[in-house]
Amino acid sequence: MSRVLETMTWPDVAGAVAAGATTVILPLGATEQHGPHLPLSTDTVRATALAEALAGCLPGTLVAPALPFGCSDEHSGFAGLIGLDHDTLAAVIVDCARRLAGWGIARLVLLSAHGGNAAALDRAAARLADELPALEVAVLGGGAAVSEAVLAIAAAESVPASALGLHAGEGETSEMLALRPDLVRMHRAVPGMCSDDEGLIAALEREGLRAVTPTGILGNPTGAEAGRGRRYLAAQTASGRQRLDGAATAPRKVAS
Ligand SMILES: [Zn+2]
Repeated sequence: MSRVLETMTWPDVAGAVAAGATTVILPLGATEQHGPHLPLSTDTVRATALAEALAGCLPGTLVAPALPFGCSDEHSGFAGLIGLDHDTLAAVIVDCARRLAGWGIARLVLLSAHGGNAAALDRAAARLADELPALEVAVLGGGAAVSEAVLAIAAAESVPASALGLHAGEGETSEMLALRPDLVRMHRAVPGMCSDDEGLIAALEREGLRAVTPTGILGNPTGAEAGRGRRYLAAQTASGRQRLDGAATAPRKVAS
């Protein structure tokens, strides 16, 4: 049976909830540049795929339609940007959560594939803790820019962290080759700004990507491979599952 809300009818959903499906994963993406070779929807595609994979291994879990707009002002100056202020995204999440709780959802998983959404996720989780204390809220992808699970695979396969990259590098490009190869323009992939300098994230937050990388790439996508992309996605799914399986008795917010 489908677990994807946008393909279900209301009796399907009511039946699923009556049978115990009381968790919804809300995938959060972005509409922002991902270099000259990846589509603006990259984070939304990745968030949706991770949510569906996670729902496939967590019983009683439904997947909401992805939010395609995130907090992406660090990409100002590149064409194609559409985004929300932190408070707006937090408010959208809270509004959606109220409606989900209204038809029986007891646990909401906020799964973000875009690091810039982290502050909004924190704000939404804090507001929901006040307003809807009966709703358990878990946050996945609200922490480090690249997950430990992905870093471990890259290291095991001799992909330097500087090539894996923070944005549109080997990591995201491999994942997109696995998920939507039809949208990847590998002939336009070029090495971007490659650094694993600890000051990089602070510089990005201060100055934006445009000042640091003229192509918009942080990392080197030229060695990307679909097979490794599948392994990155599987590792993130396994780590998300582990966190959520243990979350029933743990604190409300699960950092990632
Ligand atoms: Zn991305």
